[in-house]
Amino acid sequence: MNESDSERLANYLESYGYALAQNINTAGAVILTTCAVRQMAEDRVYGLAPQIKANNPNCKLILTGCLSGRSDVQERLKDVVDIWLPIFSLPKLIKLLEPERTEINDETGSYLSILPRYSSTFTAFVPIGNGCDNWCTYCAVPSARGREVYRPAEEVLAECRALISAGYKEITLIAQNVNSYQSDDYNFAQLLKAVAELPGEFWLRYATSHPKDMSDELIAVMAGNQKICQHIHLPAQAGDNEVLARMNRKYTREHYLALINKIRTAMPEAAITTDIIVGFPGETHEQFLCTAELFRQAKYDLAYLAEFSPRSGTPAARMIDDVSAGEKSQRKKALDEILSRTALENNQKFLNQEVEVLVNSARGERCFGKTKTYQTVQCQGDKSLVGQVVKVKINEVKNFGLYGELVK
Ligand code: SF4
Repeated sequence: MNESDSERLANYLESYGYALAQNINTAGAVILTTCAVRQMAEDRVYGLAPQIKANNPNCKLILTGCLSGRSDVQERLKDVVDIWLPIFSLPKLIKLLEPERTEINDETGSYLSILPRYSSTFTAFVPIGNGCDNWCTYCAVPSARGREVYRPAEEVLAECRALISAGYKEITLIAQNVNSYQSDDYNFAQLLKAVAELPGEFWLRYATSHPKDMSDELIAVMAGNQKICQHIHLPAQAGDNEVLARMNRKYTREHYLALINKIRTAMPEAAITTDIIVGFPGETHEQFLCTAELFRQAKYDLAYLAEFSPRSGTPAARMIDDVSAGEKSQRKKALDEILSRTALENNQKFLNQEVEVLVNSARGERCFGKTKTYQTVQCQGDKSLVGQVVKVKINEVKNFGLYGELVK
């Protein structure tokens, strides 16, 4: 989402005559799009912001993203940040930068209606909404990004149509919780289907689903349309019902596993990935074992594993962070080991098979890309293949990568 926000910021400023600076130390304005999901990302901002201002005291330093609305961050960086910009206030930015300027477009519109300057010529993120109403107790997003707001379906479809006619090969619809999408007569499953039915050759992805809201209708739409990539990122966060309740996730492990079962029945080849937090306040060893068991049963292809760290202003930050750092790291390591096994087992089915790969980068004589199910593939080839969908015959599989030969 932050990447997509930065693309909108770039296009917005260009429309007012700004251009990308070649050197951050001589730029007239510097924008930091911040993330508060992990402490590490937050800490980088505390180092970076004063450094930018020290090297370039005349620049206007603008801070947007998750940290822009936090009073503790504003206090800490008050001497170096010139403009605090909640991302939904993007249409007002020019007035904040140049108060005397008069020729200004609509300052009251939705920031999502501002078209981005896409950073790629073949793959694009298309936000369908912003904000979150779920209030998971560990998460800073609802207070940072505000309540859920969704883009009209016609606007989303128009942006996708333009991308397809410009030759984009991959579109990813994004929102904090796509399943809550509602606009005009469209829920998310209906929007996804409408985008998939647009004429043209392209791959369609989305992120992220909330397990409490993922519908049978969505699973059926995914299973029934070739353009929709069968990769589902379904954050479990924990596998113990008591921990899930303390996280305010509003589903149970039974519901989650039933969902996995439905997905695997409808799409046996689908890849499923997840997010897990280990060491949430009060998580006992037995409760962690429940998470490990769910983790084994779900047979994930990939997982983003995080050790709990309190995010300022969230309810979980007021809970007692009573799992030691050593125990958190042990729990993460245990899940990592399960993941290595399940990912390798899942990848075995690709051995000696031909897969379609969208090449996204090249180094020397090697190309790197993704399959429709989001496996990373390496094969021989050069940068002329970047942005193309190629066929690769897989001759080696590892837990987190497939290796093969280009099929001519
Ligand atoms: S669903 Fe939960 S974790 Fe995801 S953005 Fe909303 S509050 Fe955060």
